[in-house]
Amino acid sequence: MAEVVLHQISKTFHNQNVVKGISLFVPDGSFTVLVGPSGCGKSTTLRMIAGLESATEGEIRIGDTVVNQLPPGKRDVAMVFQNYALYPTMNVFDNIAYGLRNRGTPKKECKVLVEEIAEIVGLTPYLKRKPSQLSGGQRQRVALARAMVKKPKVFLMDEPLSNLDAKLRNQMRVELTSLHKQLGSTFIYVTHDQVEAMTMGDQIVVMNEGNIMQVAAPMDLYQEPENLFVAQFIGSPAMNIIPAENGSGNLWGFRPEKAVILPDAVSQVGGQEMLTLRGRVVSREILGAESLYYVQTEKGRVVVKVDTDNGVDIDSNVQVCVSPSYLYEFDQHSGKRIVRSATERNQMLAGGGV
Ligand code: ADP
Ligand code: MG
Repeated sequence: MAEVVLHQISKTFHNQNVVKGISLFVPDGSFTVLVGPSGCGKSTTLRMIAGLESATEGEIRIGDTVVNQLPPGKRDVAMVFQNYALYPTMNVFDNIAYGLRNRGTPKKECKVLVEEIAEIVGLTPYLKRKPSQLSGGQRQRVALARAMVKKPKVFLMDEPLSNLDAKLRNQMRVELTSLHKQLGSTFIYVTHDQVEAMTMGDQIVVMNEGNIMQVAAPMDLYQEPENLFVAQFIGSPAMNIIPAENGSGNLWGFRPEKAVILPDAVSQVGGQEMLTLRGRVVSREILGAESLYYVQTEKGRVVVKVDTDNGVDIDSNVQVCVSPSYLYEFDQHSGKRIVRSATERNQMLAGGGV
């Protein structure tokens, strides 16, 4: 087990700077997820930690060791890829034992280790089978077992579930999370899927264009995004963004699930000042108990997630209402979030201008 520290790491490919001086602390035993759109530098970052790419600049430390100059085999990490290549002619046992034998581990010890790991990942009944006689999920487990058997300090996983179908992917998510708890080792996991990141990670690193946009626990990312990028990347559907009404030229944001939708004729009750956008329902997607309403308002199109049985129809005129406690404000130039107190937010809506 070990912590991993990146200090001002950059990577340049043919004059193209794809990782731009990032610094990151991965706590020992954490499940850290790197998430971001395709091409943002996640795999490159992971490969630099693994030693499969060299860092152009900066320092990488695993435990107490600066590993920049160490080859992959000396870093005490194991990597699991999306396209796990198993040896087709070897059975499951031999596939798992392969790396150990390469290291010269004695036969008896090999057997003990392989059987122990096979038990953990539920492969004990399949040790004699060839990869072609296994399901996709079982093959993925062999790939994991092969990584685990070497007892690395750090597991590096690059989109290991993206080749599996949705149902199996869900199941493997749960299995990986419990495996992490069981092993207590440090996991660094790459995905472009924010739902996967939110459900699996205890520390999430949001990346964009070679930079780290925010590092936080899942609920903190959702509730306290530090910038417009994170606000719109985390959460589905994405946060609505409209021009601020306080004359600042900034942007306001609210999440689809934090707004309510009312028929236009209904007048609001209660003393609280609400952000109110008037508009017309242009479409609706019924998800089940909840529906997404797309509303064309004078501030642009917004989406609202509300109970399906709320009685609002397509084409009707509505008001979308948001409590000031659910309003976010972002700087128009930098995209940085401007944090305001509850009192300040209420004044903004009342036209007080902050
Ligand atoms: P991600 O995993 O987030 O999708 P990558 O780290 O794979 O992104 O890639 C980041 C950028 O670096 C992309 O623009 C990609 O084309 C480029 N890149 C990755 N590997 C290489 C390479 N070996 N040679 C040149 N460019 C590369
Ligand atoms: Mg990638």
